[in-house]
Amino acid sequence: MPLSQVIAPFVVPTIEISFIAIAVYYLLSFFWNTRAMDLVLGIVVFLFIFLLATWLSFPVLQQLMRYFVNVAVIAILIIFQPELRLALAKMSVKGKRYEELTDFEKFLDSLTHSIYRMAERRVGAIILLENQDSLDEYAAKAVVLNAQFSSELLESVFAVTSPLHDGAVIIRGSTIVAASVILPLADESSQISRSMGTRHRAALGITQLRDTLSIVISEESGRVSIARDSIMTRGVKIDRFKGILRSIFNPPKTETTSKFALQEWLKPWKET
Ligand code: ATP
Ligand code: MG
Repeated sequence: MPLSQVIAPFVVPTIEISFIAIAVYYLLSFFWNTRAMDLVLGIVVFLFIFLLATWLSFPVLQQLMRYFVNVAVIAILIIFQPELRLALAKMSVKGKRYEELTDFEKFLDSLTHSIYRMAERRVGAIILLENQDSLDEYAAKAVVLNAQFSSELLESVFAVTSPLHDGAVIIRGSTIVAASVILPLADESSQISRSMGTRHRAALGITQLRDTLSIVISEESGRVSIARDSIMTRGVKIDRFKGILRSIFNPPKTETTSKFALQEWLKPWKET
């Protein structure tokens, strides 16, 4: 028998199972850690009891459960309407992209404003935005925070009276991973001017070793500098600052819609 005839009966079930697995994965990953997760667990328990009742042939229990299902479906739709709406919106690629963009813009706005507020008040700081390389080895030796980013938190860390204000802060995505991070100083051969103190040398030094964006606020001059790939740009103004961050962390999508859609669908599998 030719190989294609042997494989043929398995093709449709394999595709079907893959689609069901994808749908279940998306549903579970969306509901995880939300109140709807209790509902998902409830349904699993319900199904288990239903199967048990069928297997042991308990007719009354089975009938009762069937009545319950009719009412429960409508009740679930009403009670979890907000969650379901969000879940459906997340499944559409357009919705997802928009949400990620607004999240990034919100983070960027809040980060920019706190940096330039600190600069105005001459509060010295180093802020590292993690990019391709992990900075965990530096974070582990510092004060680990793992807190959701907020401008208030960032500014309190660098407030002169704060015990955390010396050293750098590491940000991954929109999480403040650690504070008081000690960084390796840039080596002498690099773009170091005499006027550069240890803060600027440290901010530049880490970019020689890791792919990260270093932001420095000078306590002496109130200037904001940005370093990446061993190059430091000093005295960056607010609009340019935003432009640089956008171009590194949120490059304009040039792919066609279909390619973009495919990438979005494949993303969770690539990450795991
Ligand atoms: P500024 O323009 O703000 O004065 P600077 O480049 O002249 O900066 P210093 O005046 O030497 O640098 O700044 C000292 C501060 O830099 C320290 O209080 C500390 O917070 C920070 N710093 C120094 N060395 C490191 C390091 N290795 N890693 C992280 N932060 C450091
Ligand atoms: Mg100084």
